[in-house]
Amino acid sequence: MKCRVCGNDAVINLKAYNNALCARDFIAFLENRVLKTIQRYRLIDKDEKPLVAVSGGKDSLSLWYILNRLGFASDGVYIDLSIEGYSSLSLDKVKTMADRIQRRVFIFHLMETLGKGIDKLSRVIKRSTCSACGMIKRYIMNRVCMDRGYNVIITGHNLDDEASALLGNILYWKDEYLWKKGLELKESEGHLSKKVKPLFLCSEREMAAYAILNSIDYIRDECPFSIDAKSLVYKDILNRIEESSPGTKLQFIKGYLKVSRAMKTQRRKDNLDYCAVCGYPASGGICSFCRIMERFGIEGDIRFDEYKPEGLPT
Ligand code: SF4
Ligand SMILES: [Zn+2]
Ligand SMILES: [Zn+2]
Repeated sequence: MKCRVCGNDAVINLKAYNNALCARDFIAFLENRVLKTIQRYRLIDKDEKPLVAVSGGKDSLSLWYILNRLGFASDGVYIDLSIEGYSSLSLDKVKTMADRIQRRVFIFHLMETLGKGIDKLSRVIKRSTCSACGMIKRYIMNRVCMDRGYNVIITGHNLDDEASALLGNILYWKDEYLWKKGLELKESEGHLSKKVKPLFLCSEREMAAYAILNSIDYIRDECPFSIDAKSLVYKDILNRIEESSPGTKLQFIKGYLKVSRAMKTQRRKDNLDYCAVCGYPASGGICSFCRIMERFGIEGDIRFDEYKPEGLPT
């Protein structure tokens, strides 16, 4: 198999694009797609200060690396959920990348603030681990972004993540979530930062290839709580469809973007409520995070550590 651009040996066959590429041309292809996605959908403005939510996985670390290569100087935010044998390892990977690209990363330790890891916390507040995790992550990402003067949160959701979430929403007709999926979630001045997903059109396989070809050291294991996640079942089904009809996932997501835009559906209610304690979005009175703080009798502000690679000016 030869590279369609230069004729050298290809390292990857992209059936969805009917294309095969060598390492150098694949890296250029993927970075160009991220750039085009950002430009076409106006995800990051020149004067914005972006913050990347990094987990230690291939998607977020590669995205952080790509953005800095493309000239979007971005710092990171990492949320330590205290998952045994997983969180400390993923934080190491995040720090390794921070050193490599010479960017700082803000770190929130759940255990230090609430005295519990995500597993125990979810049992106490009677939510599934993933639901509690999602709530904490959304809150902390927004908080760091707003408190530290950044304007846009960037997450590493890829094509497979989005397609499987969309399939789940359609299967159960979760109308309240269905039209919220998109490349961008608009900000609400002083309360909620803009959130964007530049990897929306890049598949999991492409991101893994990109990470390996660039020697990006990422955590290979999945989060132990993802084992039962329905999204893995949906991903598997979509991969089987993709195998027999290459390009289906891309069409699924692109079609969705077109339809949701055509419907001009608001992805966020304009009449959001704000928490009486912290001022960030809430679905009524006090936000879920502040309710937990109250319940555990924790007073005062939450704390973030800051990891700064050696040699980086303050
Ligand atoms: S799988 Fe792990 S990281 Fe993902 S939402 Fe669930 S607890 Fe959080
Ligand atoms: Zn080539
Ligand atoms: Zn609050």
